[in-house]
Amino acid sequence: CELCPTFTTSCFRRHTNPRISIRMLINQHTLVFDGATNPVHPNTIGSIDPYCQVTEVVKDAYESARMLCDQYYLSSPDLVLRELNTDNRNQPISIVYVPSHLYHMLFELFKNAMRATIESHKEGSTLPPIQVMVAIGGEDLTIKMSDRGGGVPFRKIENLFSYMYSTAPKPQMDDKHRAPLAGFGYGLPISRLYAKYFQGDLQLYSMEGHGTDAVIHLKALSTDSVERLPVFNKTARRNYEVTHGADDWCVPSREPLDLAVFRLAK
Ligand code: ATP
Ligand code: MG
Repeated sequence: CELCPTFTTSCFRRHTNPRISIRMLINQHTLVFDGATNPVHPNTIGSIDPYCQVTEVVKDAYESARMLCDQYYLSSPDLVLRELNTDNRNQPISIVYVPSHLYHMLFELFKNAMRATIESHKEGSTLPPIQVMVAIGGEDLTIKMSDRGGGVPFRKIENLFSYMYSTAPKPQMDDKHRAPLAGFGYGLPISRLYAKYFQGDLQLYSMEGHGTDAVIHLKALSTDSVERLPVFNKTARRNYEVTHGADDWCVPSREPLDLAVFRLAK
């Protein structure tokens, strides 16, 4: 683009974040002024649910991802869901949130966890379940999704959040009735944007050889869930300008070993 010659991840982020915001405004306006109540969720105010039951959204997202997974692999891992409500032990966990945002994040994480689980297990072997833990405290609501899909090397974790990074084959769009399970490389970066939109975050912790924990952090209190919007000023512009400064930390050499040894000896 004109502002930034190298269209980077931060450009995508600054482009997509206002899109989430504009969609949210349009949705909110049309739903509220339309006056119709949603028969399934009569308590929602536009797209915001003041009593969004987190485990219900987890189950919905799991079912949708499972359907896709069954279409592709003819099997899918089970779900083990636990919740921990420290203050009200017998009450289901609920927060003020936009259920469609939460659903989007969970659906993307489930697809990734299912693909990793199936691809790392031999055909016919029993698939380990995907475990989801939901916990709420005074400040945070945290959702942890653990799979045993073989994990990712630590070095690659940040790459996974780059737009268009994918290890899946490019999806074939010839079948309009079948959504692809993976391959666009947008699942994680866009989910992280959704999480950050209301001051939350999305992190991946992986143990290569074992599996991955994907953790969604959200604000437990609606007063903390303020929309996070980019500002456009001179400082923002400076962030787009590419600097070619030399690295001030040594990086492992990619040169052939004998050449690197030769340099050290000099
Ligand atoms: P799509 O945008 O259609 O979801 P994708 O799944 O390839 O495509 P991302 O969801 O952004 O894109 O994930 C990027 C890559 O991160 C994946 O291709 C996969 O290699 C890796 N990855 C993500 N989650 C996991 C996981 N739980 N275990 C192992 N690898 C993972
Ligand atoms: Mg994905």
